[in-house]
Amino acid sequence: MTPASRPTTLQKIGEFGLIRELQKHCQSLRSDVIQGIGDDAAILRTSHQEALIASTDLAIEGVHFDLAFESFKDIGHRIAVANISDMAAMGATPKYLLVALAIPPNYSVSNWRALYQGFKKPCQAFDISLVGGDTAASKSGLFLCLTILGQVPSNQALTRRGAKVGDKIYVTGTLGDSKAGLQILQNQAKSKKTTAGKPYETFLKKRHLRPTPRLAVGQHLSRDHLAHAAIDVSDGLSGDILHLCEASRVGVELWASQLPLSRQCQAYAATQGHNPIDFALAGGEDYELLFTIAPRHQAQVSDLGKRLRTQMTCIGEIKPRAYGLRLKLEGGNHRNITRQSYDHFSTTRTKS
Ligand code: ADP
Ligand code: MG
Repeated sequence: MTPASRPTTLQKIGEFGLIRELQKHCQSLRSDVIQGIGDDAAILRTSHQEALIASTDLAIEGVHFDLAFESFKDIGHRIAVANISDMAAMGATPKYLLVALAIPPNYSVSNWRALYQGFKKPCQAFDISLVGGDTAASKSGLFLCLTILGQVPSNQALTRRGAKVGDKIYVTGTLGDSKAGLQILQNQAKSKKTTAGKPYETFLKKRHLRPTPRLAVGQHLSRDHLAHAAIDVSDGLSGDILHLCEASRVGVELWASQLPLSRQCQAYAATQGHNPIDFALAGGEDYELLFTIAPRHQAQVSDLGKRLRTQMTCIGEIKPRAYGLRLKLEGGNHRNITRQSYDHFSTTRTKS
């Protein structure tokens, strides 16, 4: 086969190239679809007052979770939070969850129960009802598909699209902890180590296994019309800021010295000889909120952070598109921000 006739593989266009293709192919929409493919969730008009917010997420054994170091309860909890976090990014109130699963017949009933125990905790905490799903036997490994439905008052949904030049960029909490926690879990599983380890390890492992969705922050940002654009950090800062800038057609300057890093992540990075900033840029699954606001709202955002006891850090500024995406380093030099985060179809990267 000549190179010209060789079919383009998914590996070549990558996960996000595929999503762009899907967007092009699904442009003819019903008139009540406010936002289809391309954001953290779809926005569907149900009445003059309310919009339905819908999102679905896959989780596959060996890709998204590993039974070597995660219990079924951990998996249920973490995957439910991943789904809920997309509601936070839209400023929505999640209400209903549907769970489709394919499970190997030799997995025990107690495994299955533990998985549902894992779903239960975040559902109870945020008043979400599990209302349905589907079940099948899997020939190999556990497959999960969670669909979440929520609501937001009309015209208040946050999207990735509204960032304006001059906006300040904020992020909740700290970044990179989940990636560090995952590495520790993977290394301990490899070395079959069962001891408790260093104190920072416990913190980081918990940040990976039991993330917190920033629902209250998202809801306040939308209700008070504070944020111009928002996304949850599920793929890593470098990938998620790129999605936000692409959707808003803007550029960005991020400030390396301002990236919020926990002392535990810094301690772990030091033991590995890594720059902790790379954990923040490349690390997925932090489920923090990344949002942009007009500079005049900065005081309101720091008040909101105090009220909700959530760290809010200004990490950069939105620039014109022609500026590109740049990271200002501690010494004042700049480097381009390239996607360091996980791509499902790339063979050059493994999920860690
Ligand atoms: P997130 O990381 O926030 O869950 P994704 O990167 O998974 O978002 O998806 C980005 C957008 O692409 C979403 O609007 C999602 O609904 C859409 N999408 C992803 N995969 C598909 C698919 N196979 N078919 C249709 N839409 C898809
Ligand atoms: Mg998301």
